[in-house]
Amino acid sequence: MWQLIRQFARTGHSDEPAPTAEDAWRNEEQKVRREILDLLGRALCIRQIDAGSCNGCELEIHALNNPYYNIEGLGIRFVASPRHADLLLVTGPVTLNMKAAVLAAYDATPAPKLVVAAGECACTGGIFSGSYAVCGPVSSILPVDVAIPGCPPPPVDLLRGILTACRAR
Ligand code: SF4
Repeated sequence: MWQLIRQFARTGHSDEPAPTAEDAWRNEEQKVRREILDLLGRALCIRQIDAGSCNGCELEIHALNNPYYNIEGLGIRFVASPRHADLLLVTGPVTLNMKAAVLAAYDATPAPKLVVAAGECACTGGIFSGSYAVCGPVSSILPVDVAIPGCPPPPVDLLRGILTACRAR
């Protein structure tokens, strides 16, 4: 116990500072909230599908749910079943093993449905292009409404892509 207290006194806090009012995302947040309500007027439900990614894109998608971005507080939430989804957010190149599952999820999503390809691999195949194990980008098997480039795309880009898809519909 005393050893820990001595260590705290010596090293201090190593946490990140709390976001301030001037923080870039804090400035955007209210604008995005208004945009979502104008566009949708209700919650947006997203089913995320990993079609074969390295999970780098998933880490950025997970960040959307943290207390900083808090997209659930903005009215956007992730759902476990495509049957409850308005939008499919697909990452990774479509691997041969995942092709049938991606198509089944698309068929199970009620119309009108949106498809967003997130990350370079989902947009173009990325570093997995030409691999014997992949069919290609998401657009090779599904109609894609919006493609979000980046390896991986940061959370704000993901959110902008999702809103762009909603706006286009
Ligand atoms: S775009 Fe980059 S981070 Fe995303 S799945 Fe491909 S290699 Fe991984």
